[in-house]
Amino acid sequence: MKGTVYKSTGSWYTVKTQEGNTHECRIKGKFRIQGIKSTNPIAVGDHVIFQLETNGDEAYGVISDIEERKNYIIRKSVNLSKQTHILAANIDQVFLLVTLRNPRTSTVFIDRFLVTCEAYDIKTVLLFNKIDIYTQEELDEIKYLASIYRKIGYSCIGISAKTGKNVSKVSELMKNKVNIFSGHSGVGKSTLVNAIAPEFQIKTTEISSQHYQGQHTTTFAEMYDLEFGAKIIDTPGIKGFGVVDMDKYEIGDYFPEFFALKVDCKFNNCLHVDEPKCAVKEALDNDEVSWSRYQSYLQILNGDEDTYRMDNYEGQ
Ligand code: GDP
Ligand code: ZN
Repeated sequence: MKGTVYKSTGSWYTVKTQEGNTHECRIKGKFRIQGIKSTNPIAVGDHVIFQLETNGDEAYGVISDIEERKNYIIRKSVNLSKQTHILAANIDQVFLLVTLRNPRTSTVFIDRFLVTCEAYDIKTVLLFNKIDIYTQEELDEIKYLASIYRKIGYSCIGISAKTGKNVSKVSELMKNKVNIFSGHSGVGKSTLVNAIAPEFQIKTTEISSQHYQGQHTTTFAEMYDLEFGAKIIDTPGIKGFGVVDMDKYEIGDYFPEFFALKVDCKFNNCLHVDEPKCAVKEALDNDEVSWSRYQSYLQILNGDEDTYRMDNYEGQ
């Protein structure tokens, strides 16, 4: 049988079939996934093959195979083992909530986040939340930011999770997809999810009360089916996700507008900093590349390793 992993708590996996039947499953044998030293071989969002087995009165599934992942997000362990934990797999899109106030989301933060999602090959939509509280000047700033990000291919929507403004546009985009909401604490993620799917609130409360009993060190992601036909992966307590080992020559490739210009740089390994005949710098001088995007790029490029590891971004 085929199914999708909705929840995992270490040795047991909750797998749902396309028909909507849920089975508790274990893993058969060892799973090794090339290139990553992961603490968990199978993650929420994985598509797996399993067989039902019975052991006395007990019936459970045995996972024998995992389908190739379209993408996945990881978190590096904070201890020295250097192991990674796969938070979720096969994500269709991430919504990044951005607010100008309470709390302020900086453009550097947005750009680092977008770089991570590009590296993970995950589509990102920017949601400028709390539009009900902004002054005209702040609304103009949002328009300006949205124009920067739209120009390079990111969808942007101004919303108010509180008043419901444009919330239906978000749910429309979510349909038939696996979605994740992200952003600083306080930007309105819970408020938005509750506005989109009132049924969801009850579930999260139940789950977290179970979670916090004796499992202080690990937070488990979980996938939910929303009534209007969207899936959401909730990653409790996880503010961001990290990119492991990004080469400095790679960073510019994750700025789509830089990547598009790169063919016109004199050097094919151009870092777009001091090199002559750099198409990115020329575009910057002509205002075709945004100054704030370029500043973010320099910060990521010049930062130490941690600068471009999103798992540390809450502390910036
Ligand atoms: P989270 O930490 O990202 O889940 O943020 P919450 O959903 O808990 O929201 C943080 C605070 O912002 C709460 O007091 C919400 O009521 C408030 N909030 C969320 N969305 C909006 C909004 O669109 N407008 C206003 N005025 N407040 C909001
Ligand atoms: Zn260049």
